[in-house]
Amino acid sequence: MGNTILYIEDNPDNMMLVKRALEARGYVLLEAFNGISGVSLAEENEVDLVLLDINLPDIDGYEVARKLRSSSKTALAYVPIIAVTANALKGDAEKALSAGCDVYMSKPINIRELWARVEAFVPAPEQKK
Ligand code: MN
Repeated sequence: MGNTILYIEDNPDNMMLVKRALEARGYVLLEAFNGISGVSLAEENEVDLVLLDINLPDIDGYEVARKLRSSSKTALAYVPIIAVTANALKGDAEKALSAGCDVYMSKPINIRELWARVEAFVPAPEQKK
């Protein structure tokens, strides 16, 4: 198993925060700033986990999740997807899960929660033997 994480997020501040936090643990981060390019990156690279913002400038995160799950690249049917929802409205989480996301976390992003959520699927490289 690799250690490559794709983050699909249009907010540059969140992107930088997550990039620093995950690279500090030894992960490799691929960055996509809209939904369509995120799907393309997932299809063109070996990705071990997807972090997915819901509010994106082109297609929303629910649509991204559905595209990943129905991709002709079969690995994307199983890649873990963590949705990052901006508003804690109850429907968001349920919509994310029904679109194919495995879990969700809400903004603002808490670094310790982020590490824990990611590590539940992909062990941190610096902790591997
Ligand atoms: Mn956004």
